[in-house]
Amino acid sequence: MLFRSLAAAAALLAVAAPAAAQDVDLRAQVAAFVQPSNEARTQVVVDQLRAAGFEPMVETFVGGNRQTGEMEGRNVVVTIGDGPREILLTAHYDAVKLRDGTMSQGVVDNAASVVGVIEAAKILKAKDLNHRVRIILFDQEELGLIGARKWIEAHGLANVAAVVNSDVAGYGDTMMYGLNNGAQSAGVTRAVREVCAERAMNCVGFPVYPPSDDRAFSGTGLAEAGQAGSIDRVPTVSVGFQDHVGAHQMWLAFNGGETNGLAEGFVPQVFQLIHSAEDTMERIDPATVKLAGETYAALVERLDAGLSH
Ligand SMILES: [Zn+2]
Repeated sequence: MLFRSLAAAAALLAVAAPAAAQDVDLRAQVAAFVQPSNEARTQVVVDQLRAAGFEPMVETFVGGNRQTGEMEGRNVVVTIGDGPREILLTAHYDAVKLRDGTMSQGVVDNAASVVGVIEAAKILKAKDLNHRVRIILFDQEELGLIGARKWIEAHGLANVAAVVNSDVAGYGDTMMYGLNNGAQSAGVTRAVREVCAERAMNCVGFPVYPPSDDRAFSGTGLAEAGQAGSIDRVPTVSVGFQDHVGAHQMWLAFNGGETNGLAEGFVPQVFQLIHSAEDTMERIDPATVKLAGETYAALVERLDAGLSH
């Protein structure tokens, strides 16, 4: 019996296709972000952008929050093409510090998004676009969207036509997108839905979606943080990936109200992972990173064609 099982297992192994070379690379790229500090992660972003043929700019800023005190941060930026108006494709690369003082490995949240965005940048570089596309990998998102806010302070939003932000895209084939970035974002939402239909993808729109750097651009959800006022409101969408069941569980947790049907005390898997010691490479599926890159590129291309420039 044992022998038969082993033989069967061996036969299975023999027919299993070897991982595609690109998958191995994407996996290694995400793994490179497992570092002891966010400073070390900055260098990984710069190195990977250079390896992809870009000349990244590192924009430093004085950031930090009440807990950390003043703390230098670094956004890493690349521009593609030219044009008076621009589309931003963004993701934060910083990882959160855990309660015991060590760094989260921060791969689901959010190295996988960063690598996906770099993949999208490689695709977009070969396109003839009407807009300038600015790829921004933000620092200090985990401290309160500081990198995004500092970028806005430094550059303004007058020329920004739209923002696509990716947060949490490490596994699964289902793209999640937030619907809570204000009325000005309806056109971007429509573009997301068109891309989902065209690519026959599973996509789930969230009326309530957790905040990321998107909120700094859309001006929503900042009133509570005392950041409201005369902020510009840019058409913005925040996207991410998860497995199909997990995406729906998360939808119910955030949008289902008291009768969401989830067991009492249920916490969607992704929220058990992120900001914990469980956010590790075992969770990462390079196929998702590839899918995210292709999807984000398709979305930016669609926005580029549809928005006035
Ligand atoms: Zn995040």
